[in-house]
Amino acid sequence: MEYQRPKGTADILPDQIGVWQKIENTARSVFSKYGYQGIRTPMFENYNVFVRSVGDTSDIVTKEMYDFKDKGGRHITLRPEGTAGVVRAYIENKLFGPEYQKPYKVYYMGPMFRYERPQSGRLRQFHQIGVEALNSESPQVDAEVIDMALELFKNYGVNNIKLVINSLGDDQSREAYRKALIAYLEPHFDELSEDSKERLYKNPLRVLDSKDEKDQEIVQNAPSILDYLDDYSSKYFEEVKSLLTKLGIEYEIDSSMVRGLDYYTHTIFEIMSNSKAFNGKYTTVCAGGRYDGLISQLGGPDDGGIGFGLGVERLILLMEQENPNFSTPSNLDIYLAYADEEGDQLAFELLHDLRLQGLKADKDYSGIKLGSQIKAAVRLNSKYYAVLGKEEVSEKVIKINKVDGNTQEVSLEDLKKNASKFLK
Ligand code: ATP
Ligand code: MG
Repeated sequence: MEYQRPKGTADILPDQIGVWQKIENTARSVFSKYGYQGIRTPMFENYNVFVRSVGDTSDIVTKEMYDFKDKGGRHITLRPEGTAGVVRAYIENKLFGPEYQKPYKVYYMGPMFRYERPQSGRLRQFHQIGVEALNSESPQVDAEVIDMALELFKNYGVNNIKLVINSLGDDQSREAYRKALIAYLEPHFDELSEDSKERLYKNPLRVLDSKDEKDQEIVQNAPSILDYLDDYSSKYFEEVKSLLTKLGIEYEIDSSMVRGLDYYTHTIFEIMSNSKAFNGKYTTVCAGGRYDGLISQLGGPDDGGIGFGLGVERLILLMEQENPNFSTPSNLDIYLAYADEEGDQLAFELLHDLRLQGLKADKDYSGIKLGSQIKAAVRLNSKYYAVLGKEEVSEKVIKINKVDGNTQEVSLEDLKKNASKFLK
């Protein structure tokens, strides 16, 4: 094979596309119930948009970015995540003006790019569905966003999940915690991984997120951020928890959860599953949180925001296990097979009428045998098929067969008037 797709990418073929489209459409309909509208930002941004937001000590920026100089010498990055671009667009288009809805609620879906070691559920081009509620700083918005994420999973028919939350507090709380964490980690300096040594003074919270086993052992006894929240932050977190309880939402608190991006403050959350799809190991499918400093950091007003991103490839792995019947839609309403030249002509013309009536209909154009045409109808997942030939042309009546059942005779005239009546 001379040409192969780049490592860590996938072709999503027509036999999988039904699931993808249903996942996306379900997200659109759930999000719209909560007042969210779509937004589409560029697939690439200036390098600094991500360095400023995601953080220069994060895995994403230090190791995973697809960045390059374009022909005009600009430093460009293929987006590794969705929030930074949305916030950039929010600021650039001044969507914080008084004429705009508060919070400014948007959702996106599309490919993201990270230079990672490809493995199951981890690609270099992957897809996220995400939301952002900008210009908001209210525990109600946090609870609503979490509620919406869970509602989405309900609509996907995935019940084997848990919600994990934590609070990172505001800048002040984080500064106090930072000091405490450095004091705790310093005596273990020599045992830390190289990455963690590097990050200890620059951004010790990153050490909590390390995937290195020894690091993970060391941080097990680290102080908890929840003990360092200032008054405002801890009240905020209490309120979020109480609102979740009011909505009947169960959660776990993991005080060592920090997330992989530097911009988070206050509430952060992950939706995880230990489904067989992940070999029983808790894996994050959807993750998000509040980012109250981010908008001003990128040059905008001092507004807060909160959002989440959901990995579609990982969601599909999960759904194949937890809800395999999510999508088996019929591709076609009817497939018109032909037995001879006259039938072929009739089929070609009838298709035009059926499609004008809004039906999904198709035929063969390559002259294959009748038996193969009927097999094609089954393979294309058509609900009905008919065989047209000389007789049907002269009688003006055709037999419509349900692919898995009975047959009915319908006049051509009736079909041309209202075919959907016969193709339920
Ligand atoms: P991980 O710890 O697994 O690397 P992360 O913290 O980098 O995840 P986020 O940046 O929060 O992940 O992205 C949100 C979701 O996007 C993840 O929960 C996951 O479902 C998905 N995701 C992230 N990176 C990848 C990838 N390389 N391939 C496929 N999906 C991904
Ligand atoms: Mg990652």
